[in-house]
Formats: sequence, structure tokens, C-alpha cells
Amino acid sequence: MARMLTERFNGEVPSTPEELTQLPGVGRKTANVIQAVWFGKPTLAVDTHVYRVSHRMGLVPKDANTPRKVEDYLMKNIPLGEVSSAHHWILLHGRYICKSARPLCSKCPFDDFCPKLLENSKLD
Ligand code: SF4
Repeated sequence: MARMLTERFNGEVPSTPEELTQLPGVGRKTANVIQAVWFGKPTLAVDTHVYRVSHRMGLVPKDANTPRKVEDYLMKNIPLGEVSSAHHWILLHGRYICKSARPLCSKCPFDDFCPKLLENSKLD
């Protein structure tokens, strides 16, 4: 990666997804994180937390069964100006409350209206 950055990109981290994903080890998720955090672009990286929470809360349809489909659906439905914040809200909610194996529903502010589309998970 270091060699490619120096030889192909003049030592600068590129800013487009097409360029970023040319770098070894950089896929769409990482490219989206770099674009959002470093370049301030409205991109939304779908990691395991974003994927899980989006499905459990019914933010995306069931047939959004790949990270890319979840990303596309969320991007269509979140105002561009809120994308970066929304990404962190969903991610942190998944990391600390809507945990993978045992979501803390009794402590969750969405408990009353969340559809809890849980699969292979235990409720708190
Ligand atoms: S109510 Fe439970 S399943 Fe729904 S978002 Fe909160 S922790 Fe997750």
C-alpha cells in the first residue's frame, strides 16, 4: 500500500472510492470511512453494527441482505447533511446497547417502538 501511495498517488491519500479501493486492503467500507472521517464526505460505512441495528430496528427491508444494499437503502433515506452523524449514532448504538448476542432492550430508548427483528439473539 505504501508503495502504491507513493508511486501512483504522489504520496497523498486519494479521496475517491475508485482510487481508494485500488489500495491493497481497502474495500468499500474502509473507503467510506476514509471519505467520511478524513475528507468530510457524506458516505456511510456499513460494518457489522450498522448492518445488525439497521435490520433489527427495521430501518432497512429484509431483502437488503448485503452491506452494499443496506448502505444504498440508508443513503436514500437519510438526509445528506445527517449521514455522517447517523453513521456514528447507529454504530455506537450497536456497540453499546443493541449488542450482537444480547441486546440491552430494557435500557434502550427505542424499546417501545422497535420491532426487534432479532435472529439468534436473546432479549435483555
Ligand atoms: S429495543 Fe432492543 S433490539 Fe431494538 S434497538 Fe433497542 S436494543 Fe436493539
